[in-house]
Amino acid sequence: MGKVYLVGAGPGAPDLLTVKAARLLERATIILHDSLVSREVLQLIPPTAEIIDVGKRCGQKLLTQEELNQLLIFHAGSGRSLDRSPARSPNVPPTSKSTSHKEVIRLKGGDPVVFGRAGEEIEALRRAHIDFEIVPGITAALGAAASAGISLTDRRAASQIVITTYSRGSDAAASDPFAVTPQLDWAAISNSTTLILYMPAADYAEVARRLRVAGQPEDLPCVIVSNATTPKQQIRWTTVGDLAGEAKLPAPALLIVGRVATHQIQEITAAAKHWRGDPIDQLTVAALF
Ligand code: SAH
Repeated sequence: MGKVYLVGAGPGAPDLLTVKAARLLERATIILHDSLVSREVLQLIPPTAEIIDVGKRCGQKLLTQEELNQLLIFHAGSGRSLDRSPARSPNVPPTSKSTSHKEVIRLKGGDPVVFGRAGEEIEALRRAHIDFEIVPGITAALGAAASAGISLTDRRAASQIVITTYSRGSDAAASDPFAVTPQLDWAAISNSTTLILYMPAADYAEVARRLRVAGQPEDLPCVIVSNATTPKQQIRWTTVGDLAGEAKLPAPALLIVGRVATHQIQEITAAAKHWRGDPIDQLTVAALF
């Protein structure tokens, strides 16, 4: 029986892959990848490998999560899954020549365990008694912060990072991969929080409204980063007050909100003056990060 590797492809730039991920891709015989995985990373896959795109195309889901779980089990060669072989599903591309690979690469954008639905896949693999390993990748938030040149935990302005996803509500979220993600407690965002919103939908006006309702000031800096670390990267510096009027940047994009989300160091210094943290807390923060 084969082993399944849940591999992080990073935010886009191929040289941001881990060495381990690059080695696995180099010798891969089968790769099942998301649509988020960049073309540049996919180009590293040897031409002899079987490549299955299990992502979404034009909003159309190619596979359900359950079908995808079964596909992983199928290719890792578990006899148990053959009765429910995904080859019977009209959704599964009939590309499979073999049912068993020594290594099955499940390649996900960013990091596999950050909004990557790794949980369901791990559970299915455990149930099928299939060995698996997680290979971390650089999550989009960290790629975007690096591209924007900001320190997410600049100790003069931020003591915590909240990484979450934004979706408009139950109706819009019905076909949304994050529909099961519990809604963010906006009121829990303090003035020393760096908030990072992974945004499947670019609803800046609604995000700005919620930030205001949660008591965030109009001049709080925000930065929208689209296609971080790729040749299509775009970075837009704005504020909570101006966010609603910003033109939409292409997906994938995320939003970083907080005092650190600026390239003007004066603003961070000014924010530090307003931050009246207990000195012990500040020491703890410095030690933690
Ligand atoms: N597992 C991934 C996240 C998948 S959720 C990770 O760790 O990065 C998909 C969301 O990630 C997108 O809607 C977008 O908000 C964000 N994202 C992924 N790649 C991105 C990139 N290159 N630039 C900006 N945002 C990105």
